[in-house]
Amino acid sequence: MLNMRRATLRPDLTVLTMAGLLEARPRVGYFCSGKTPRMLAAEEIRRLKVEEVKAVPVVVEGDTSVYDSIVALFTEDAGTLFIVSSEGYLEGVVSRKDLLKVALGQIDLHKIPVRVVMTRVPNVVTVSGEESVYEAGRKLFEHEIDALPVVVPLASEGKERFKVTGRFTKSTVVRIFVELGEGK
Ligand code: ADP
Repeated sequence: MLNMRRATLRPDLTVLTMAGLLEARPRVGYFCSGKTPRMLAAEEIRRLKVEEVKAVPVVVEGDTSVYDSIVALFTEDAGTLFIVSSEGYLEGVVSRKDLLKVALGQIDLHKIPVRVVMTRVPNVVTVSGEESVYEAGRKLFEHEIDALPVVVPLASEGKERFKVTGRFTKSTVVRIFVELGEGK
């Protein structure tokens, strides 16, 4: 019908098969998978795990001053800091606006430890590396926050505590969004 040879069309059919829009079976040929590009994007963000896309966490200890925490935001190019104990267990998170709020007061920022201004565990929303990027994105959206610590739960002194292994942020979501847009 198209007045083209099969060899001419084959590369296009291969691309459409790789994109998931067509399926190919031996002795049957190419046929429509019935999936729309939106369904394929949904499948992809539910398949992709946080572990595969997480970034290196930016952490400071709770007795770090608010001043040094602000410096860390700049030097580490981060928007949110994770506060950890000396053994590396999650204690809290501090955002840009948490730090801005203290900086507006007439207080010596060298004298206040970041622990005083952080949002503390158990109020911190976390994600595990095994969760999908869709679930992680939904947590960011529902809690109206910019970053999630990626954690591994470990029992320590009879309590469940969390080791921080990464960060999942709005920037991670934007990167995935752009890569999906480019068909990667
Ligand atoms: P900003 O305050 O700079 O707009 P966020 O929207 O991320 O940044 O933070 C809003 C508030 O939520 C802050 O008080 C912050 O401490 C807290 N917050 C940030 N991340 C988390 C998280 N993962 N779990 C719980 N609270 C968080």
